[in-house]
Amino acid sequence: MTLDYKGATEKYEPTLGLEVHVELNTNSKMFCSCATEFGASPNTQTCPVCLGLPGALPVVNGKAIESTILIGLALNCSIAPYSRFARKNYFYPDMPKNFQTSQYDEPICVDGYLDVEIETDDGPKTFRVDIERVHMEEDTGKSLHVGGSTGRIHGAEYSLLDYNRAGIPLVEIVTRIIPGTGKYAPQVARAYVTQLRDILRSLGVSDVKMEQGSLRCDANVSLAPIGSGLLGTRSETKNVNSLRSVERALTGEIERQANRLEAGERIIQETRHFLEESGLTRPGRSKEQAEDYRYFPEPDLVPVTPDAKWIEELRAKLPENPADRRKRLQKEWNVPDSEMNSLINAELVDVVEETIKLGAEPTRARTWWLGEISRLANEKEVAPTSLITTAFVAEIIALITSGDLTDKLARQVVEGVVNGEGSPKDVIEKRGLKVVSDDSALMVAIEAAIAAQPDTAERIRGGNIPAAGALIGAVMKATGGQADAAKVRELLLRHLGQGQETR
Ligand code: ZN
Ligand code: MN
Repeated sequence: MTLDYKGATEKYEPTLGLEVHVELNTNSKMFCSCATEFGASPNTQTCPVCLGLPGALPVVNGKAIESTILIGLALNCSIAPYSRFARKNYFYPDMPKNFQTSQYDEPICVDGYLDVEIETDDGPKTFRVDIERVHMEEDTGKSLHVGGSTGRIHGAEYSLLDYNRAGIPLVEIVTRIIPGTGKYAPQVARAYVTQLRDILRSLGVSDVKMEQGSLRCDANVSLAPIGSGLLGTRSETKNVNSLRSVERALTGEIERQANRLEAGERIIQETRHFLEESGLTRPGRSKEQAEDYRYFPEPDLVPVTPDAKWIEELRAKLPENPADRRKRLQKEWNVPDSEMNSLINAELVDVVEETIKLGAEPTRARTWWLGEISRLANEKEVAPTSLITTAFVAEIIALITSGDLTDKLARQVVEGVVNGEGSPKDVIEKRGLKVVSDDSALMVAIEAAIAAQPDTAERIRGGNIPAAGALIGAVMKATGGQADAAKVRELLLRHLGQGQETR
């Protein structure tokens, strides 16, 4: 008898704990001046400091401290007036120093929180996630195992080491245990990482690309029988690298633990790896205890003692919280949840706001980004924002609003811009896209439409205004969509003696 997820959460209460590692986007590494560019040739961005050569001396990257303080402030933390680095000692081939310079008992930011909202059976509900600490450390290098079928070291013929990533500034954000989420635990975790990612992006401190590993989540979860008041043994699923995977990994892990407990087995405290294909986790190493790392204060670095005035300057620079901003924009734009969610999911909120700021009519700005531009982006399998600039979209929308372009013509302009035919102006000129607004030219088409459908014309003369649609359609067709439909309607109705009704 096995429990499914529903059964598992009816019997057991999950308790979460989330650790997120963020690579900062500083130009240089945490303790040396090596470049941090992603994707450079292996081992071209290294020096004696980040290779851990004897006698090399580290220096802290000031920009990294600034970014970390910004993160702490955005997460409602206190900033420690005095914090220190420590050596976390362990052996790993991609860590040439044999210790990671990190922070241990004296982290730079402590005691914050983040409120995350999720959709529950009873409507939206907010969960407060307490944040224990935000500390600075450095990334390790990367191992590449060659020759095996799995990419893992087992079965590989040889391994390659790339130290470009060694020493890249990392910030680790650690929550306190998160109780009381019940069956929503995986959703709360996903919402937390999503919101954290949005905040980090708004701060401009990281490129937060989960698929490139610049944002990675370690998801801890334990189970205890509901109402027992106990805290079970946790497992930690390491380096989950997409938002969806955070949710899936926890769902699978809660199910796995519940079934072990049902079978009378014990949960082992261990790290686990998430398997993308199956949604399951497999065991990694059994978890080290803090004492295994033989932490001690880093003797080669001075303590970090940020000035109180500087901290207040940084606080004053904080951008609006992205979740608050979305709520504000939704109100300003007066759009339903469904449309706002579509914009958020398509990551179009920023560009729509920018397009509106550039003067575009708000409804059109949303419709064009979410509609035609997203459609073309889907076809090309790229992000909508990579196809066209907000300035060009605003320009095209202005031409629609002024009546110089119809929607149909505007679609061709967008298509031209996307295909690299130049600016909207260039495309309009090269393709000869112009609304036919010359009355006499339109009248020729109108007369022709009336001649082709005399019965319809008669009905309109008799007061049947909706019947005009058929004739307007015929004129639009005859002019290849280049006519201004409102204008055609006005001329047609006036011509058939129904001029008053057009106002
Ligand atoms: Zn270096
Ligand atoms: Mn860490």
